[in-house]
Order: sequence, then C-alpha cells, then structure tokens
Amino acid sequence: MTNHPSVIVLGAGIVGVSIALQLQLRGRQTLLLDRQGPGEGTSFGNAGLIQREAVMPHPFPRALAKMLSYARNRSTEVYYRGTMLPRLAIPFMQYWYNSQQERHRAIARHYAALIIHCLDDHLALAGLAGATDLFRSGGWLQVHTHGESLDHALQEAAYKAEQFGVTYTALDTAQIAQMESALRPGLAGGIHWTQPLAVTDPHALTRAYLNYFTRLGGEFRTGNAQSIQRNHAAWRVQTAHGPIEGAELVIALGAWSPDLTRALGFHPPLFVKRGYHMHYSQPANPLCHAVLDADQGYMLAPMQRGIRLTTGAEFAHRDAPRSAVPLTRAEAQARQLLPGLGTRLDPEAWMGVRPCTPDMLPIIGPAPGQKGLWYAFGHCHQGLTLGPTTGRLLAEMMGGETPFTDPLPYRPERFV
Ligand SMILES: Cc1cc2nc3c(=O)[nH]c(=O)nc-3n(C[C@H](O)[C@H](O)[C@H](O)COP(=O)(O)OP(=O)(O)OC[C@H]3O[C@@H](n4cnc5c(N)ncnc54)[C@H](O)[C@@H]3O)c2cc1C
Repeated sequence: MTNHPSVIVLGAGIVGVSIALQLQLRGRQTLLLDRQGPGEGTSFGNAGLIQREAVMPHPFPRALAKMLSYARNRSTEVYYRGTMLPRLAIPFMQYWYNSQQERHRAIARHYAALIIHCLDDHLALAGLAGATDLFRSGGWLQVHTHGESLDHALQEAAYKAEQFGVTYTALDTAQIAQMESALRPGLAGGIHWTQPLAVTDPHALTRAYLNYFTRLGGEFRTGNAQSIQRNHAAWRVQTAHGPIEGAELVIALGAWSPDLTRALGFHPPLFVKRGYHMHYSQPANPLCHAVLDADQGYMLAPMQRGIRLTTGAEFAHRDAPRSAVPLTRAEAQARQLLPGLGTRLDPEAWMGVRPCTPDMLPIIGPAPGQKGLWYAFGHCHQGLTLGPTTGRLLAEMMGGETPFTDPLPYRPERFV
C-alpha cells in the first residue's frame, strides 16, 4: 500500500472495521489502526445479537421501585462502585432527564432510523465477506418471572411493533416450556423477538469483515492512536511499521475515544457501562435461543464455544480493577433459570466497556472545527448491531453522497 492512504480509521472494533470496510468498498484507500488485534476490545465479548427489536435505547429507570432497588446495589442488572457516583452525577442527571417517556420516545425515532437497517447492512457485508454462516436466525427470547413486568414489556412490544415494524410473539408459560424445555418451568411468560440474528462468534465476525477489507486492498496496522498529529493538511500516526499519513481521520475507539478527542478540544460526556461474560457447557438438553432474564438483567447466549452468560451493567471507572460481583450474581440467577447450565469453560471472566451517551444516541459525524476529522463512537448496548449501519452512514457523509438517513441527530456538535 502507498504511504498515503486516503483515510486512517482509529479503532478496529466492530464499528471501526465496518467503517473501514464501507470506505474501502467505495474506493477510498483506507488504513485501520488498533493497539491490539481486530475485534479484541468490547466487540469481542458481547451477547452477539443483531437487535432489530432494539428501536428504543436503554432508558434510565424512572420507576421509584426500580430506582430504589438499584440504590441498594444488590441487583444483578446494575452494580455500581460507590466512588463513581460523584463523577456520574451530571451524565446521570442528563440520562435520567432524557429517559422521561415523551423525550425517550422522541429519541427512539432517531435511534430506530439506524436500527431498522441493521439486518440488511450486516447481511450485505457478511454476504460479501463469506461470513453468513456465523449468523443464526430465529430471533431471541425475553422471559419474565413476574406478571407485572411482563405486562409492561408487552405494552412496549406492541408500541415497537406499531411504530417501528418490530415483530414478536407473546409467549405464555407453556409456550416457553415448549420452545426452551431446558428453562425452569413456571415462568410467567415472555416475548419471542423474531427478527434479530444471533452471531455465534462475534470476534470471528469482526475478523471476517476485516479479512474482506484487506482482500479489497485495505490495510490493518498496530499502533497507539494517541500518537496522532496534525501535519499541515494531513493526519499522521505512528504504527509498528513507521509513520503513516492520511488526508482524513476517523476516531472509532469506542470507550477510549475521549482520550483522543479531548486533546482535540472535544469533550463528549461519555460514561461507561462495563459488562462481563463467561462460557459454560451446554445442558444435555441444549438451549437453542439467546434468552434474556428480563427481571434480573443478564443474558444466556448459545455460542460456538458454549453458553455465554453476559452480565448487566457495572458503573465503575473504565480502567478500574475488575469486580467478581456482577458475574457471581448473574451466575447464581442463571443456574436457577437454566438448572442444567454446565461448568465454567474460561479460566477467568472477560470484561468489556460499553461507551454510552446521556441522550442514548451514538456520536457520528464531522468533528466540530477540525477539517478532515470524523467521529463514530458511543454505541453503548448496540454497537454490534449498529457497526455496519454506522459505517455506511459515515462513508456516505465522507464521500459527499446523500446519506440514507438524516445524520443531524447523531452530530458531535450537540455536545459542544
Ligand atoms: C456484556 C456485553 C454484551 C453486549 N451485547 C451486545 C449485543 O448483543 N448486541 C449489540 O449490538 N451490542 C452488544 N454489546 C455492545 C457492543 O459490544 C459494543 O457497543 C461494541 O462492541 C462497541 O464497539 P466499538 O467498535 O465502538 O468499540 P470496541 O470494540 O471497544 O473497539 C475499540 C477499539 O479501540 C482500540 N483502542 C483503544 N484505545 C486505543 C489506542 N490508544 N490506540 C489504538 N487502539 C486503541 C481497542 O483496542 C478496541 O479494539 C454488548 C456489550 C457488552 C459489554
């Protein structure tokens, strides 16, 4: 490759890889940089769902009972380090404000404008990359122990169906037992989200997109993104194989993006929800769908390696030492829901960092006041889902094409 790619993309998670691939597909010579291998950050260990149903981003709870349960810090869904609370006060207040029903529904319109494309955009890339065998169709299940939470979830499902074309089937106790006989009997009911795809190895998917990108002539290099410098009209970055200059630069470093943007004068109010996973051997009677325990807030996702248990959200400093609490709590609950859940398969829990914004929308678009600089991060709970769609939107904007949707709601300036 020439020493002068047209674009340098920083960050080879699912978002950065998808952007690089969408650019390369449009004939832009692209260099992708990461300090580790592709897809080894948060994109490595998620629950693997391409969530067509996730048209409404995760709100901050507004119900008093839920807030009190979180405040006691004993829930499986949310665990926080007390030392974090002063730092989180301002983003949490904004997050809470934006989660009020009318505002949340307005935000969901912008979120859904991206989400509705997620299946087509993944299928298009996976088809080209020869990776469709990593997808399992058949959707996923949300199960409830309590009738009250089920009623609330069914109301929300009806709203998503009516407003955003989400499809689902309401399940009663017997239907859940029929679909997933390995689950404990007597659940109140659930929802079968029928459109989503399940990825059986998220890391392999990111690598497949990366391999296709390099087959098209794109280049992946290792290096520290913090070495970037403006060099006249170009951007220069140090790689393991020497410096590289590009005309345009994209920052897609997930939760690490503010480390760079702050030096460039942009201070996004990003906060993180950390999450853990562990694999277990399948019960003799295997689990066929990914299952969310909606009342407890963890997920069981059948993957190539075994059943991946993913935890809820841990509010801690991004770089704080790991905690055993989220996985211990989730595993105890999971063994009740799935009594045949086997032994642990990994030597230690994996941890990832979801990058979140207080208005629940990702940051995608041109950097304020910096020519040739673009941002794409802040995908929180749905980065796997939205990688290819984000890549398409950004590549269309960078190429001067008419974007498939109005990019204004995601513009970085909203945080200036
Ligand atoms: C437990 C859990 C379950 C989840 N389940 C789902 C799900 O089912 N569906 C879904 O859509 N989403 C899910 N998510 C969210 C999803 O995984 C993330 O939104 C997504 O991975 C973010 O992708 P990214 O490319 O922005 O970031 P990352 O994958 O974190 O990539 C950022 C990259 O930047 C690199 N980097 C950082 N700093 C530097 C530096 N200084 N120099 C060079 N490189 C650097 C890192 O090495 C990393 O590779 C889940 C997340 C978690 C934690």
